[in-house]
Amino acid sequence: MLHSSPTTLSVLNARAASASLEPARLPPADIPGLYVHIPFCFHKCHYCDFYSITRQTEQRMARFVSLVLAEADFWVDARQGPTPRPSTVFFGGGTPSLLPLPFMSELIRGLRRRFDFSNVAEWTVEVNPATARADYCTMLRENGVDRISFGAQSFDRAELKTLERHHDPQDVPASLEIARSAGFQRLNLDLIYAIPGQELASGRPAWKRPSRWGRRIFRATA
Ligand code: SF4
Repeated sequence: MLHSSPTTLSVLNARAASASLEPARLPPADIPGLYVHIPFCFHKCHYCDFYSITRQTEQRMARFVSLVLAEADFWVDARQGPTPRPSTVFFGGGTPSLLPLPFMSELIRGLRRRFDFSNVAEWTVEVNPATARADYCTMLRENGVDRISFGAQSFDRAELKTLERHHDPQDVPASLEIARSAGFQRLNLDLIYAIPGQELASGRPAWKRPSRWGRRIFRATA
């Protein structure tokens, strides 16, 4: 019969423990969310505190995608720890929908190859109503995005001008229709309240209008 001394056992236990702590052997690590900031914009709105840049070129955008994926490589490197498994994904900006379709597709597919997306309950991409296109929305939906947040901000042309926005009020219902046709059921409208010169009465239609397009939850920024 083979007898182990206490010293032998502790060595064996230490080896087993270190093997089970190898990052590559650990189960995925649940994290609440993965946020990807896409900083490109038509122009810099005067009220905006978000990091955003203009004068982007295709080369600059392609480089941005490859750098985000290089950053993702760091986070999923097995030597750094277990693979992150987010329960929500959010692409904000900036104006994420300014990223051309092939680049956005490459970014989404690249992230899908790196992270564990088996637990994602909601995946949102912010879209400017002026940029909503059927092929773009279809690509998002086919790649697992299930919620679009439109930067509507106001339904008043003068208020949009004050905000330096680059879309018309009618772009909003048109965008919602495009998204619905692409299969999106979860839609959000961002509205800004207390715009300079805005009266309470002029703001009211903005709050009523979404209810005409169906029950929606939208967030407001004052
Ligand atoms: S479009 Fe949005 S993110 Fe870009 S500058 Fe204007 S408010 Fe900021």
